[in-house]
Amino acid sequence: MLKLDSFVFNHFAENTYVIWDEASRECVIVDPGCSNDIEEDRLFGFIDSHQLKPLKVVDTHGHVDHVVGNNAVKRRYGIPVAAHPDVKPDFVQAKRQAVWLGFQPIGDIDLPDLDLQDDEEIKIGDSVLEVICTPGHARGSISLYAPVEGWVLTGDALFCRSIGRTDLPGGNFVELRESIRDRLFALPDDTEVYCGHGEQTTIGEEKDFNPYVAV
Ligand SMILES: [Zn+2]
Ligand SMILES: [Zn+2]
Repeated sequence: MLKLDSFVFNHFAENTYVIWDEASRECVIVDPGCSNDIEEDRLFGFIDSHQLKPLKVVDTHGHVDHVVGNNAVKRRYGIPVAAHPDVKPDFVQAKRQAVWLGFQPIGDIDLPDLDLQDDEEIKIGDSVLEVICTPGHARGSISLYAPVEGWVLTGDALFCRSIGRTDLPGGNFVELRESIRDRLFALPDDTEVYCGHGEQTTIGEEKDFNPYVAV
């Protein structure tokens, strides 16, 4: 079984997730938004004190609030970064985006080492996460679905009663609405939704109450 722990990092209150398999203690770090030593210590302290074995970083998309901690995690544990190939322009822009968005100056974010494709399975011990492509908020946005555990990480595609902004480069409202309606709303209604910002929700609640995409 997969377990999920979350951290709120940087001034965008971004949710970073550690997903780990209880039996093997293997883990992946999703969207490391740690932007200073204190936040890095919190994340690394959790991983180390739980004796987890990091396999890779997985990024839901390339906005700086989700990838600012990539290099630090990658170097500490010697692990690759995995993302959809369409994120590359945003990774290249992340250093500049950091300046616009009030982060401390950062260096270049390393391009992803591994490509993730739609429907690909990420193995963590004997458990799996499924990649679901959900573009519209950003190029190459993915969600990560744990079918056995019944939850999904949606990055900035779907929020509790809201959706991701679509005014940044690569954003497209119609595409985002299709991603949510066709892919995320196809999951069981009781699927718990863990978002890139803010509180969790369920697929059923968002179908009923989300003003942007309610069906
Ligand atoms: Zn974003
Ligand atoms: Zn974000």
